[in-house]
Amino acid sequence: MAILPPGVTATDFGKVLKEFEAAVGREWVITDPDDIHPYRDYFSMLKDQDDELVPSAAVCPASVEQVQAVVRIANRYKVPLYAISTGKNFAYGGPAPNLRGSVTVDLKRMNRVLEVDEKRHIALVEPGVSYMDMYRHLEEHKLKLMIDTADVGWGGLMGNTLDRGLGYTLGPYRDHVNASCGMEVVLPNGELMRTGMGALPNSGAWQDYRYGFGPDPSGLFAQGNFGIVVKMGFRLMPMPEHWRTGLITVPKRRDFLPLVDMVNYLTDLFVIGEPLYSSPLQPLLSDAAFRRAALDFNEAEMDRHAAASGRHSWQVELQFYGSEKTTLANWEWAQELIRRTVPDANCFAGDSLKMPVTQAQIDAAEHPYPAPYSSVMRRNVMHGVPKLYMWRSPGRTDDSPDTWNETHIGLFSVVGRSGEAVFKAQKDFQDVVRRTRPGAEYVSSLTPPLQWHQSAFFIGNSFFGTTTRNDNSPEGKIRQLRELRQVLKMNAEAGHGDYRAPPLLQDDVADQYSFNNHALRRFNETLKDAIDPNGILSPGRGGVWPKAHRSRRGALRK
Ligand SMILES: Cc1cc2nc3c(=O)[nH]c(=O)nc-3n(C[C@H](O)[C@H](O)[C@H](O)COP(=O)(O)OP(=O)(O)OC[C@H]3O[C@@H](n4cnc5c(N)ncnc54)[C@H](O)[C@@H]3O)c2cc1C
Repeated sequence: MAILPPGVTATDFGKVLKEFEAAVGREWVITDPDDIHPYRDYFSMLKDQDDELVPSAAVCPASVEQVQAVVRIANRYKVPLYAISTGKNFAYGGPAPNLRGSVTVDLKRMNRVLEVDEKRHIALVEPGVSYMDMYRHLEEHKLKLMIDTADVGWGGLMGNTLDRGLGYTLGPYRDHVNASCGMEVVLPNGELMRTGMGALPNSGAWQDYRYGFGPDPSGLFAQGNFGIVVKMGFRLMPMPEHWRTGLITVPKRRDFLPLVDMVNYLTDLFVIGEPLYSSPLQPLLSDAAFRRAALDFNEAEMDRHAAASGRHSWQVELQFYGSEKTTLANWEWAQELIRRTVPDANCFAGDSLKMPVTQAQIDAAEHPYPAPYSSVMRRNVMHGVPKLYMWRSPGRTDDSPDTWNETHIGLFSVVGRSGEAVFKAQKDFQDVVRRTRPGAEYVSSLTPPLQWHQSAFFIGNSFFGTTTRNDNSPEGKIRQLRELRQVLKMNAEAGHGDYRAPPLLQDDVADQYSFNNHALRRFNETLKDAIDPNGILSPGRGGVWPKAHRSRRGALRK
């Protein structure tokens, strides 16, 4: 036993482990440092350092009663716990806890799909159900339903939702918290609670109506530390008959504004799935004169280069779910809408496929659009088919077989869903780079927004090495960490807050949400102290520290 939970003696921890063994079975209490390895964050910037966020042990309950028993034991000895479902939260801390020495509660053994109703389009699952498990279940039972999967399919419905994960299909489904409906939760005192209609004994509508009556606390469990969720309901998308895509391009930089307005209109009428924005001008950055114009946000010059190269400035790929006829009608409508404000927009028909698609269609790599335009759509996620394909982005590649990105972190700022807000964010992020690394050159005027969330844009500030291969020495990693902290602060000063963060940066992000002297954090921590007086459940998660550990806020800042 290499590490002890903070504030717990070796003697007491020995007793705790014995009691855990009695509760879940001896082989399901993991203490050997080698076996603890999978509970580390491989991308941690503190990897192998004395303060790396590693657990002291892991315990794997197989039932709700066993989770309750673990929580009660932890309360008696004031042992901090950290619950994970499928534990694949890579880019946001992996399975690692916020507090070094916590005991990981690994819920992988609770992996049953408890219910799927094909007619009401609902499901109820346990924590360990991965996207791949759920997909297999729907396939095996020939159910005409779709999941909205995260890009790397080994994660799961519940864990992803509890970190406010997002997907790729229609808005209400790709916002996974929004698609969730009804939870069963083990509270920090070991008691069992159901939210929504689940609180009404014998209700048959638990997965139909999420609110029940009175305040609905279900939002507290995502990015929070108020309970261990042991069942979660979801609304699933019925399998559409047809999927169709189309590409719209607009010639000038400023045409981006009406383009976004048009896409927002279709999005909020639930006509399209996730739209994918990008700029066909990226290849022009190798031309020094264009690069200068892009760095200076010189719109007239950028437009001149775009016209001379025969490329439009922006493109958006649209996807339509429905029947063959309705998807065609909606695509025609989209073309009509854009031409009302940007008459010289280009519109190219893309894929038109009967659903469910076949594996061969998913794997097909043809690009439906004429050069110089190309598709960035990944067919698997748009069809709810989980894959591991995107894991190659931080992993080894053909270009880089001997190295992988050791510090992969997702950092995405929430930006208002308008063209003006995107243009402001581009300038702000470029300015942050200029101030953080004087002399460094970063062109952000072509950075497109991501519309993973139905009603907001996310923009990544990828310059700071969150997805590139960097100096992987311990000192190099600490340097990057400091830099990221600085960047988060500057982004926040410009009004851009992050939607999610790994434990190492959660205090920094929570610091940004400071309106009225941190009224939000004070509210959350008042609740935390009332519900979890011993502070045993995921201390520090979401920047919420219980009284027992509050002095540790920001302790990892170097
Ligand atoms: C290349 C790449 C692509 C990615 N693409 C996406 C993407 O498309 N969409 C996306 O959303 N993310 C994406 N991610 C981020 C992340 O890998 C996924 O969100 C992943 O699904 C999260 O892991 P998980 O599902 O195993 O959740 P877990 O790791 O099980 O849970 C996440 C966190 O939620 C809390 N938690 C989990 N279970 C419980 C519980 N039962 N009770 C209380 N708290 C709990 C814990 O704090 C836990 O750390 C990507 C990452 C990489 C590296």
